[in-house]
Amino acid sequence: LGPEQLGTVISRFGQHADVETENGELVRCNIRRNIQSLVTGDKVIMRQASETTATIAGVVEAVHPRHSSLSRPDLYDGIKIIAANIDQILIVSSVVPSFTTQIIDRYLVAAEDTGIAPVIILNKIDLLSDEEAPAVEAALERYQAIGYQVYRVSSKSGEGVEAIKTLLKDKVSVFVGQSGVGKSSLINALLPEAELITGDVSETSGLGQHTTTTAKLLHFPSGGDLVDSPGVREFALWHLPAERVGWCFVEFRDYLGTCKFRDCKHKNDPGCAITQAFEEGKIAQDRYQNYHRIIDSLDEQRHARHFKN
Ligand code: GDP
Ligand code: ZN
Repeated sequence: LGPEQLGTVISRFGQHADVETENGELVRCNIRRNIQSLVTGDKVIMRQASETTATIAGVVEAVHPRHSSLSRPDLYDGIKIIAANIDQILIVSSVVPSFTTQIIDRYLVAAEDTGIAPVIILNKIDLLSDEEAPAVEAALERYQAIGYQVYRVSSKSGEGVEAIKTLLKDKVSVFVGQSGVGKSSLINALLPEAELITGDVSETSGLGQHTTTTAKLLHFPSGGDLVDSPGVREFALWHLPAERVGWCFVEFRDYLGTCKFRDCKHKNDPGCAITQAFEEGKIAQDRYQNYHRIIDSLDEQRHARHFKN
């Protein structure tokens, strides 16, 4: 074996991983048995073999600690990590089929839970009608007011795409969002020559049993990396405890410690600081309502699971 080198996992499949060395060489590697978990985006120590077989040319010896990870439910393992060291989650929404803050808030909560910075992208602005525009714009401005970056783009006309290129530079990003919002179109506009991961993926199950494709790390020609797979795009909210959901609404954080009861669900609880802040106009109505919708849906999911077992 040659000297130790730093590398990045481009994709992982079974007992092998494709690792990119610091000088950009792609090396197919075996994985040391003692490595418990290795996923796309992991930073590793690898060594190239002096004698390579037809396909295997190196060994992954160790994995660096991750600064972030994305996971999703897995039928067999409970929770499965699908990618590591992601810097930002780009939540793609669109005016067609319909613009809804409910979905955006679900993705925001899921992103806040991982600690990875979310960014909101509104796509298909070429289809935004004059009637709809004020309400959509007002909703986006509410997100900006609580600290989120918002980008307005059209992958069709190209408007706003340059700003996305700047946003992606020097970072590892993932695109998430409902089917049909234009994730593939947007990625295509940014990454013309990529062999993209396509295919019919069910985004509705939440369990993701239809997705087996491994995540892959791709380089944008204009700088920055993309981690993509159907499973990554499906990244969604599921079984968070209620108090965690409250914390994932970033503008709630100022008030969380001041509710009368420590286990306050911010619903009809007496002395709730969140409800008071809402009534005083410090928390937006749709955020307050979406919080309750999420709490209620998590309760329903828990019941459904309980009765199944
Ligand atoms: P995905 O499921 O999120 O990957 O969405 P797709 O990229 O497959 O796009 C869904 C549909 O929306 C396709 O018919 C696209 O041509 C269309 N689309 C995507 N972006 C835009 C856009 O900016 N403007 C318009 N008018 N249509 C778009
Ligand atoms: Zn409360």
